[in-house]
Amino acid sequence: MEVITARAEPLGIELVFGDPKSIDLNNEFFGAIVQYPNAYGDIYDYGDFTNSAKEFDIQVSVIADIMSLVLLKSPGSWGADVVVGSTQRFGVPMSYGGPHAAFFACRESHKRFIPGRIIGVSLDTHGNPALRMALQTREQHIKRGKATSNICTAQALLAVMASMYVVYHGPKGLKVIANTIRQKTTSLKNALINHGYEIINSNHFDTLSFKADLNALKIHLEKNEINVGYYKNVATISVDETTSWEKLNLLNQILGDFKNSNSKSELEKNVKSSAYLENKSLVLQQNVFNSYHSETEMMRYIKKLENKDLSLVHGMISLGSCTMKLNAATEMEPITWPEFANLHPFTPVDQTEGYQQIFKELAEDLSEITGFDQVSLQPNSGAQGEYSGLMVIRAFHISNDEGHRNICLIPTSAHGTNPASAVMAGMEVVLVKCDDLGNIDIEDLKTKASLHGNNLAALMVTYPSTHGVFEKDIKEITSIIHDFGGQVYMDGANMNAQVGLTSPGLIGADVCHLNLHKTFAIPHGGGGPGMGPIGVAKHLSKFLPGNPIIKTGGENGIKAINGAPWGSALILIISYGYIKLLGAKGLKKSTEIAILNANYLQAKLKNHYNVLYSGPIWKGCSRNDS
Ligand SMILES: *Cc1c(COP(=O)(O)O)cnc(C)c1O
Repeated sequence: MEVITARAEPLGIELVFGDPKSIDLNNEFFGAIVQYPNAYGDIYDYGDFTNSAKEFDIQVSVIADIMSLVLLKSPGSWGADVVVGSTQRFGVPMSYGGPHAAFFACRESHKRFIPGRIIGVSLDTHGNPALRMALQTREQHIKRGKATSNICTAQALLAVMASMYVVYHGPKGLKVIANTIRQKTTSLKNALINHGYEIINSNHFDTLSFKADLNALKIHLEKNEINVGYYKNVATISVDETTSWEKLNLLNQILGDFKNSNSKSELEKNVKSSAYLENKSLVLQQNVFNSYHSETEMMRYIKKLENKDLSLVHGMISLGSCTMKLNAATEMEPITWPEFANLHPFTPVDQTEGYQQIFKELAEDLSEITGFDQVSLQPNSGAQGEYSGLMVIRAFHISNDEGHRNICLIPTSAHGTNPASAVMAGMEVVLVKCDDLGNIDIEDLKTKASLHGNNLAALMVTYPSTHGVFEKDIKEITSIIHDFGGQVYMDGANMNAQVGLTSPGLIGADVCHLNLHKTFAIPHGGGGPGMGPIGVAKHLSKFLPGNPIIKTGGENGIKAINGAPWGSALILIISYGYIKLLGAKGLKKSTEIAILNANYLQAKLKNHYNVLYSGPIWKGCSRNDS
């Protein structure tokens, strides 16, 4: 709810929270979001709701648990227009919050509105014209100022993991898994009722909610080294296929003790579990989900796909700011350790001291590297960092009674996510020209900054630019913006060229994001996962994003950017390892080598190719200058 509230506000979308069973729908609504099963574990039949929504042309989105959909009637069958959710429970660890892939599905009639689709004419192998269609959200397809999404880096690797889980288990295996989950939950429910607990959900898939004296319950459970969910006035327990009968029996006993219950027999394994809204139709009938059900077959299938990829184990991929490199196994190994991989995102903070220490040290190191006061580790990608940073700037202007400032200047050379993020943050994009050398046209910048003076919110600038040039006038550029009361957002995707030599703080920026999956060694995974922490100057620290459940962020923090307090926490460990292994000297040296290599290539190529953009020999603002 908090994330949706945060996203809706800058776009001027008004939210009304209510009960789908009793809400009075009318023409003022354009969309609705319901949850299936809901946060208490209850499964509602929304058929009547979607029917009346249709009368008023209201589109219905459903947030669904994909594992439950193996057993339950599909949202499409009861009239939903869009279904979204997390695929985490298809074989991906909790990872203290992420990374996980989401899924997004919609009716046939809506597919052309999915962000990033491309439809083009090309030739097939016989030379005949063919229509080609792809659905994706990578940078080439971001619609800049017309964007409805700013997603560039996604969760491709995690999507592959979840899909391979489905390929391996197939429809039959998934049904067994989902049925086992439901059965275990039913068995626990019966036991809890025998102990005298009042279960508040009338039906369930995997989650039970019950009333209790939550403070006393928490003390009792923590003494027994057990965490459950505490949500509003109820306790919740969710079961998955990794929850063993031993664990459930233990839980049963401990919860029985809490009620001084005499009924403490073992849980019954063969209970009949309810079949509310049962899905009778067959799912996943395609060959790929019905072919590879042994370890050997699965391994061969995955290897066959892998062989089709050109990757870093074959050679160099010199892809701009992605600075793709083969990373040390030492940096990668810890993400497989259960101590890091299996934590729930809302584990009480006093039980996560290891992670907390890593967050603290990593944030301190990134603050030093960026020359900024504080760092937020919440944003899940560079583009999410851009959005967060602009929302922080917006909060700053609002706190100064200057909420009218909504113009965001962006050079024409900028990466597509920049204008897209500005649109998502409720800003209006004004483009600034570039000169023939690829640098920002200072005169045009001055004209536009002064034209919009009182309404200037921010400049987004990439340094070095997307053309690969250290703009020599960067300090003048940032001071022009400050003179007109704007803030400078520096796109830090090219930070590989700055670390240890210069910094966003030094050139006068106020906020920047870092693409940890570019500069700081998280492998790109064919498009993700990534992390996009933001660093901010002191006057902005108090606006860093918070979380409604776990305290983090600044004292006047903007609302949560995503559900997990520290984003894709697990992969932060990779960047932590990279920074600690290299140390200050090593980081600086890798920057120097990167710059040297680029210049070496340029020198080698310049007699054969026309090198489009280059700056003067760089003596720029080095850390040693001031
Ligand atoms: C990669 C990149 C982004 C977007 O970052 P993601 O992590 O992919 O969202 C933004 N700006 C520039 C210059 C980039 O190279």
